[in-house]
Amino acid sequence: MIISQNDIDRILRFTKEAHPEECCGLLVGTEENVSHIIPSDNVTQGDKTKTFEIDPQVRFDLIRTTGQRSLLGFYHSHPNGIPTPSETDKSMVYEPDLIWVIATLDDIKAFRFFEEQQDFEEIPIQVKL
Ligand SMILES: [Zn+2]
Repeated sequence: MIISQNDIDRILRFTKEAHPEECCGLLVGTEENVSHIIPSDNVTQGDKTKTFEIDPQVRFDLIRTTGQRSLLGFYHSHPNGIPTPSETDKSMVYEPDLIWVIATLDDIKAFRFFEEQQDFEEIPIQVKL
């Protein structure tokens, strides 16, 4: 996945601002190249320190203006500092083609869900200036 340092810095800032709750948003772009991110409120009805839900309206607005294919994936934060997908995350995978970025207070990692293994695998991050 290719992402700008500026977008990484923004995700880390949103992570700090939302702490100890999870922040979340959309990754927009083509192929594995993130052109920009769109932050969303965490609209989960559950415990926001342990789970997240992206506002469906944010996603709807993106798809209406740029099309389904512009949605590369999601980012969200793990306030507990564990930079890997949780069991809850695994249970929330409805679209295996999308990239999942997980942020802790000082770093981000990217994952893709592989249907055959029914599990996430980390994918490399390339930073563009
Ligand atoms: Zn998670």
